[in-house]
Amino acid sequence: MKVPSMMKRRLLTQLVFLIFVGIIAWQAIHRPPTILSDVYPYLTSLSPTLVKQCIHDNQASQTIVFEELLAIRSTLPDGEAQPLLDQLKNSVPFSKLNWGTIPQTSKNNVLRHREILNKYTYYRPDQYRYPVIGTTWFGDSFGADREGGKRRHEGTDLFGKEGTPIVSICGGEVEQLGWNRLGGERVGIRGDDGNYYYYAHLQTISTSLIKGKRVKPGEFLGTMGHTGVALTTPDHLHFGIELPNGQWINPYAFLEVWKYSYDQL
Ligand SMILES: [Zn+2]
Repeated sequence: MKVPSMMKRRLLTQLVFLIFVGIIAWQAIHRPPTILSDVYPYLTSLSPTLVKQCIHDNQASQTIVFEELLAIRSTLPDGEAQPLLDQLKNSVPFSKLNWGTIPQTSKNNVLRHREILNKYTYYRPDQYRYPVIGTTWFGDSFGADREGGKRRHEGTDLFGKEGTPIVSICGGEVEQLGWNRLGGERVGIRGDDGNYYYYAHLQTISTSLIKGKRVKPGEFLGTMGHTGVALTTPDHLHFGIELPNGQWINPYAFLEVWKYSYDQL
């Protein structure tokens, strides 16, 4: 009777091992993608004015790659940035730049920022659309108190006229659709970049949308209104960006830059 009991024990060990491996594999598959903690603080804190200047300069003369221009100008003081930009203008490749007396830490920051801009393309001209087709005005109200301190404002309000068309800022899939208490008539798009984009207080939602449907950048989602908690406020689109880890980030700088491209059309 000794052998079967050993076999039993071995089978049990193997089973425990398999369950253990299974749990680890399941967790690895279902874990939201890790976003390094320096990515969004850098992107959302960029000055929209600076980004717009870089877009403008880049359109005027495309001798410098946009991401290299923005990474250098957003990281270094003008005095340090200019000699690098002069070299790039004279066709010196980025990898061959003479950094002169610029400290290694500053150089590392430029390299890291360039890497972020290349991977997260919110500011690259023509990558993302402004979500409203028509006249709008807005400020930065991210984090403002709502309902007497019960919650914070997790997006940007774009004010305009009721019925103004709302479009998707990027390609993606319809994840949420219809009524919720705060958002009223709302559309939630899972962008191809992995983020969740939230369009709220709509007057009407496009009848062509159903959950799971693919949308293209610029596709019509509905019209501006004041539904949900916006019932007594002026008409506006509440626009929010939620990262795959559940964190809402401030879309203000992105919107300012997208609006700049939209206004140029
Ligand atoms: Zn809002």
